[in-house]
Amino acid sequence: MSLKLKSDKYKKARGGSSKLLEISCAECGEIICDYQKDGPGSLKRMYFDRISNPVVSISEKSLKCSQGHLLGVAIIYKKENRPAFRLVIEAVTKSYKKKTLQF
Ligand SMILES: [Zn+2]
Repeated sequence: MSLKLKSDKYKKARGGSSKLLEISCAECGEIICDYQKDGPGSLKRMYFDRISNPVVSISEKSLKCSQGHLLGVAIIYKKENRPAFRLVIEAVTKSYKKKTLQF
């Protein structure tokens, strides 16, 4: 399966490079979703519009795995007025997805 990366003003604002990550719960190992990370730096927030294939419901207030471990809390990133989860850094494991299409 190939996955298409989104390209828009948010990506451009971050320098135009993106990578696709697989996000999982650090405590139980459950895979939560795929996430397109735009630009350099560490992952501190996950914007709702960059989350794909979630295996748990993405509620509006918090991100939890099916075991109930808290992975993030919903915020509005004020600079862009953009809904996101602020991640509990040590609760989340990130790994790179290999098959991505670059545009
Ligand atoms: Zn968990």
